[in-house]
Amino acid sequence: MKEMTEAQRRARELLYEPAYRCDTDADARRAAEGFSEGYKDFLSRCKTEREVAAYAEEALKAAGYQLYDDRKAYAPGEKVYWIHQNKAVLCATIGSRSMEDGFHLVIAHIDSPRLDIRPNPLYEAAHFSLLKTHYYGGIRKYQWGTMPLAIHGVFTRADGSTVAVQVGEDAGDPVFCITDLLPHLGAEQNKRELADGIKGEELNVLIGSDAVADEEIKEKVKLQTMLLLHEKYGITEKDFTRAELEVVPAGRARDVGFDRSLVGGYGQDDRVDAYAALMAEIEAKDPAFTTVCVLADKEEIGSYGITGMGSAYTYDWLRQLCAGQGADPIRAFRASLCLSADVTAAYDPSWASAFEPQNGTYAGRGVAFFKYTGSRGKSGANDASAEQMGYLTRMMDAAGVSWQIGELGRIDLGGGGTVATEVAHAGIAVVDIGVPVLSMHSPFEVVSKNDLYMAYKAFSAFVAAQE
Ligand code: MN
Ligand code: MN
Repeated sequence: MKEMTEAQRRARELLYEPAYRCDTDADARRAAEGFSEGYKDFLSRCKTEREVAAYAEEALKAAGYQLYDDRKAYAPGEKVYWIHQNKAVLCATIGSRSMEDGFHLVIAHIDSPRLDIRPNPLYEAAHFSLLKTHYYGGIRKYQWGTMPLAIHGVFTRADGSTVAVQVGEDAGDPVFCITDLLPHLGAEQNKRELADGIKGEELNVLIGSDAVADEEIKEKVKLQTMLLLHEKYGITEKDFTRAELEVVPAGRARDVGFDRSLVGGYGQDDRVDAYAALMAEIEAKDPAFTTVCVLADKEEIGSYGITGMGSAYTYDWLRQLCAGQGADPIRAFRASLCLSADVTAAYDPSWASAFEPQNGTYAGRGVAFFKYTGSRGKSGANDASAEQMGYLTRMMDAAGVSWQIGELGRIDLGGGGTVATEVAHAGIAVVDIGVPVLSMHSPFEVVSKNDLYMAYKAFSAFVAAQE
């Protein structure tokens, strides 16, 4: 090996540039590959918040978690969970230290942008049956046309029973789709602004074209569709008024690239962080601090509602955990630290002008920290302190976690927020962290396997922290 010059030695000591870990670390590449297999299966099976909650409950039970009972006190090392309204997950491992020393919280969200079925959705036109949708969260509507779609969700029926729906995922299932114009007749549509390429009222899902053989019936195709739905789910058209149905891209998550270094699939915002956080929590063993993992709903529409982080349920649960131990919750909250785990945009060379290269976060460089989010002058940001950033980044370095830090994109272009502001509002210090995503909020989002694995390693280090 060539001797380093003094300048080279000083450069190594003084200058900072995050590395692409897997370029030089075959063990990390292999570990990331292995971890991604379970993740792809999870992502393929769980396309709604309810499906993630059910998956998590099964995994938590299998790992020895008990359903939380607020009349019981739990000893260090014990594991408890609570499913909130079928759509959010709370789980914890009791630490050896007093809860007044603080919780170590990791919060990710399990709702993703999608098309929800409207309350009065079913109609017949031109011998087709169609469903009207109302998009949920920030989608680019033009991306949702002419691709195979699945329908996931639940109907509640007249007798009060609930029936789950999932069509479009099994190999033998039919799929659904939103149609678009052919280029030959696209001259007028081509003049629209991109945001209006397909408009909200045009996001109608094609679900059938067979009719009943009775000329006296006015809506023969619609009736034929209802006959099939009644046969399969025991529902009538009225039951759409009390349903929760989500239209999502059909099909499984896939490896992307000849080298299989990336994962492509729907709903990685924020199930990529949710999966990594859940796996790290499940593996927590006799932690010093009580670890709490929350998989929340409704982040994509502002954390509103009973299952969003704006609701009291998480903080109420922390207070109950404190009460079980005789700990003061105000002291506990003040001493706590939360990782707000949510995805961010990965620097995209095809759309480079949207980013500031020096503060971009790059797929493959590891899990990304964000001191602040917000937009245009940090508006709406939780701005973590230098001390909190120091504590966490030292922890990551000690645990061999590849990490990077940046901002969402170019300063005056836009921005975004996370649940961090809600957590800070409850009086808990919080730092943003997450996996960078290409084509974020699209039907086919892409992440680096290395970053997924480093997110898991980061949450594992946080869960295992001794001080
Ligand atoms: Mn998100
Ligand atoms: Mn999002």
